[in-house]
Amino acid sequence: MNNENEANEQPFPDQKTFGTIQSPRGMHDILPEDQPYWECIRDVVRKEAAAYNFERIDTPILEATPLFTKGVGQGTDIVEKEMYSFKTKGGDALTMRPEGTASVVRAYLEHGMPNRPSPIKLYYIGPFFRHESPQKGRFRQFHQIGFEILNSASPASDAEIIQLTYGLLSKLKIKNITIQISSLGDNESRVPYLEKLRAYLREHAASLPADCKKKLRTRPLAIFDCKEEKALRVAQNAPKIIDNLSKASYTHFKQVLEMLDELELPYNVNPLLVRGLDYYTRTVFEIWKSNDEDGEARNIALGGGGRYDNLIQMLGGPVATPAGGVALGIERLVEMMKSEGVELKNTQKPTVFLAQLGFDAKKRSLKLFDELRKQGIIAVASFDRDSLKSQLKQADRYGVLYTLMLGQKELLDGRIILRDMATGSQEILKLANITKEIKDRLKKH
Ligand code: AMP
Repeated sequence: MNNENEANEQPFPDQKTFGTIQSPRGMHDILPEDQPYWECIRDVVRKEAAAYNFERIDTPILEATPLFTKGVGQGTDIVEKEMYSFKTKGGDALTMRPEGTASVVRAYLEHGMPNRPSPIKLYYIGPFFRHESPQKGRFRQFHQIGFEILNSASPASDAEIIQLTYGLLSKLKIKNITIQISSLGDNESRVPYLEKLRAYLREHAASLPADCKKKLRTRPLAIFDCKEEKALRVAQNAPKIIDNLSKASYTHFKQVLEMLDELELPYNVNPLLVRGLDYYTRTVFEIWKSNDEDGEARNIALGGGGRYDNLIQMLGGPVATPAGGVALGIERLVEMMKSEGVELKNTQKPTVFLAQLGFDAKKRSLKLFDELRKQGIIAVASFDRDSLKSQLKQADRYGVLYTLMLGQKELLDGRIILRDMATGSQEILKLANITKEIKDRLKKH
């Protein structure tokens, strides 16, 4: 058994995992080796948000369940099958947020933001929860970045959100992306169109899988989200909302496209795009990346969004307030950055190892660490190891550029040994000047 004051020096058995308890299904750790990707994404998001004047908002992970049943929609997959909902001991019905827009709208209303100068531009980054079947790129806890523009009806706001999203992906060096775009119209377009669609679906009911048929009674637009072959054929020949837009919605959509043309953004008008949530109106879009998987080209949705002109009033807003936004999945962005071969430097890599022999040297080392840190130099030590040989082995494993060695004798002489790890050469230098000496040497690297 180990002395409790010593780290375990025994080699671990050579196996991939240890322990008996694993993370919940579909929920993952973000390990140190992946953090540079996450940090880079957060950094780009912060900079782009500032450039476009979006302010950060953080909302709670738990919300009152009716926020989503009302906001996202009772018959949607998210509400029907995917929410982590529970009753608290006090009897409150709460849900772990499955998406961000409803929460942002709730906060907008709760904090009187309609009275602030509009539009209100907000962004968020954080975890979301959906009880889906976990598979590649689909998790039960995942992270999204979202941007929302509240109280703007202008097609320019739709174009701005798409421009921001596209720019963000370019900054992350993700290539081969297209913007799939459509319009779901306004209430004036939707009511007569849904009648037409229902009539068509009744005619083709016999060719629809039972699963789809059930949804269609309450949400006929869901036909465009059914993945089964038979349903796809019915959806392809169905009347499309984009051919049934009111004059106002048609003009709005045309203007959005003209703006995207002006910005030279590559889009594809996709009449089959409906998005799975009830709150969308007018412009809807998704960002797809075409990816080669085992020799087969597949489209992966990196994000999506659109207008939700009715949502604010549906959640108790005092007057009709048009709005729109986008959400992007961070896990998928990380995966795409990796598959594009984007290499990120781990800026936290230590450059100096501090080996110390004896108690007095350890004591002085703590102070020396502070001096190094103040100069922005990342140093590491292995205070649990006493032998120089074992400490040098650790220094090798860290892959540092320099090792400093401090023993009783050096301490008394006010000196320290500096070892260049690449050449193995050693010099004895003045302890008082060592921080500056290392800083100068690192500059040359
Ligand atoms: P949605 O609004 O559902 O289309 O989600 C927007 C984006 O979030 C998607 O394009 C994905 O990148 C990401 N996303 C949504 N659900 C999941 C999930 N279960 N696991 C991982 N990423 C997800």
